[in-house]
Amino acid sequence: MRKEDSIQTIKGIGEKTAESFARLGIFTIDDLLHTYPRNYLSYEEPVCIRDAAVGERHAIRAMITSYVTVKQVRSLKLTILTVSDGDMTMHMTWFNQPFLRNVFHKGDSYIFVGTVKVKNGMRVMEQAEYYKLPVYAGMQQEMQPVYPLTSGLSNKTFQKAIMATRELICQMDDYVPEEVRAEHSLMELSEAYENIHFPMNQAVLKNAIRRLAFDEFYQFLYDMASMKKTTQLQENLHKIVQGKAVADYISNLPFSLTKGQQQAIEDILADMGGDGVMNRLIQGDVGSGKTVVAAAALLACAKAGYQGALMAPTEVLARQHYEELAEQFAQYDIRTACLVGSTPLKEKRRIYEAIQQGEVDIVIGTHALLEDKVEFKDLALVVTDEQHRFGVNQRKKLSDKGYGVHTLVMSATPIPRTLAIILYADMDISIIKELPKGRKPIKNCVVGTNYRQTAYQFIAGQIAEHSQIYVVCPMVEESETLDVTNVTEYVDTMRANLPAGTRIEMLHGQMRADEKNEIMKRFSEGEIDVLVSTTVIEVGVNNPNATVMMVENAERFGLAQLHQLRGRVGRGKKQSYCIFINGKESEESMERLRVLENSNDGFFIASEDLKLRGPGDFFGIRQSGDALFELADIYNHADMLQLAQDMLKKYGKTIQPVRRNRGGISETVL
Ligand code: ADP
Ligand code: MG
Repeated sequence: MRKEDSIQTIKGIGEKTAESFARLGIFTIDDLLHTYPRNYLSYEEPVCIRDAAVGERHAIRAMITSYVTVKQVRSLKLTILTVSDGDMTMHMTWFNQPFLRNVFHKGDSYIFVGTVKVKNGMRVMEQAEYYKLPVYAGMQQEMQPVYPLTSGLSNKTFQKAIMATRELICQMDDYVPEEVRAEHSLMELSEAYENIHFPMNQAVLKNAIRRLAFDEFYQFLYDMASMKKTTQLQENLHKIVQGKAVADYISNLPFSLTKGQQQAIEDILADMGGDGVMNRLIQGDVGSGKTVVAAAALLACAKAGYQGALMAPTEVLARQHYEELAEQFAQYDIRTACLVGSTPLKEKRRIYEAIQQGEVDIVIGTHALLEDKVEFKDLALVVTDEQHRFGVNQRKKLSDKGYGVHTLVMSATPIPRTLAIILYADMDISIIKELPKGRKPIKNCVVGTNYRQTAYQFIAGQIAEHSQIYVVCPMVEESETLDVTNVTEYVDTMRANLPAGTRIEMLHGQMRADEKNEIMKRFSEGEIDVLVSTTVIEVGVNNPNATVMMVENAERFGLAQLHQLRGRVGRGKKQSYCIFINGKESEESMERLRVLENSNDGFFIASEDLKLRGPGDFFGIRQSGDALFELADIYNHADMLQLAQDMLKKYGKTIQPVRRNRGGISETVL
């Protein structure tokens, strides 16, 4: 067995299962090893039937006291039996698993795990998991990994598949010298893989994550170091000197620029008119007005007679940029085009042709811009918005469509300067510190679910004043269907609670791109009052008329992500409000969310988040949806980032990182 082998080489994985794995982007054994659990479950101590709270999941130790019967009820085959713990009895049922007749026998004892319900005065448990006593005792010792799943793939299958690779894991060589590992208490590579999948306990898990974070950073810095050589030596083949055109554009804006914006634009013009190729990062909190900075750069590029591209991570955002810039740029005789995944093929072909012929100056789009068919006549500038959503290779792929292309990346991820210097070692950085003048600070409140009714009334009041509302539901599972049900059900709840005639629509990841675009368009044109959505609206969306952001189950999000979400309101002149509903009755999660109430500073919030989170909370909460790293968190593992840099400096490029060979996919998939 080798890392690059197909997962079908694992015993028990046939074509069907392999197809299910493929849907998760898992083709090779290496892919499998790098698909980390999303969570870990520990099996609890069994309780008596009497003590099991109704409606909650429990483990119950009981003996089978009846014969097993299988009944046909409509289209279902029900397996039924009765169990007792010596004090109380409980009915057990399973659907469509008639083979259980041969598994269970009167007099046998099991641990049953499931949700206890009451039917006709009797306790019942449906579809319970069942374990022999010694097996369960063993499981209690371990933390059970929970993997991302898709139809046709159970967690058990996943676990078994990973188990089957254990031998391979044990044989892994560690590229990090022993002395480095010893000095920094870095877990060995094979141990880290073993423990990310099958951790003995929380402490070990934390160390495994720390080690794998190191690997992610090291590979990242190693790749950057390889790329740097090519960018640094480049002379500026596209001198862009358009100070006057840019000044003209700025003076026609309906607002005056902030100091930070002005400085950023100055930096960019100096770069593009200078001797070397521009490689600049614009860092500014949500709402600081980065788009206009990008627009100025693109305008200068087009005015100099070259082509420019603006890439955004979602279609919604790409379209929004396009709508805004196409209109502005038309006044300067700049020809624009929009290219996204859902652009009809015929239209796509027309745009490819126009870009190649130089009939389009500025093209705005998503990953669709990366396709090989997109060829430029004379590409001089690539702007990437929300850069943390893209892999380094993707950014490079776009600028490789020209020679000596200027690069501008925009990010709202608040990271301390010391880390930025390492992560963006090859870039110059402009920071936009202040928000535009005249913004009223958002009023925040963190409340329990009992506040919902009040919130609905408040929302109704805002709608009556012609303001618009965002409501965000969390994606409970990565399961696509659940995502949809949550949002759909929530829309019904909202309809029931808001005055008749309120225009409520939904937006979620499973909708077709054109449907999403249509909804966003209607929302920005004021034809929708309440937009209920998942976090698809998290990045970049701009509707200054939206004044309320209500986030359900706010405790399930990272604070930095909530801060990004909150950035969708407070973009206009009206007073805006953010309501974070805490779905968990714990003082701890309340305390964590209160950080948002007390601060509007993205960097402060991200660093507080870490202090308040235990290592066990790490999973499920992604700090900012950073596409660069899977496990590594720039705040949490700042020391690993530093170590990775030190090691690269000390050993030069003689030590190669472990390579990820993604079967079929060569880059970060979003
Ligand atoms: P972000 O930095 O989050 O990308 P945007 O570029 O989307 O922010 O800008 C947010 C809003 O602020 C937009 O409606 C934009 O037109 C407006 N804006 C940008 N700069 C200024 C400014 N200097 N004064 C007033 N409004 C501004
Ligand atoms: Mg933006």
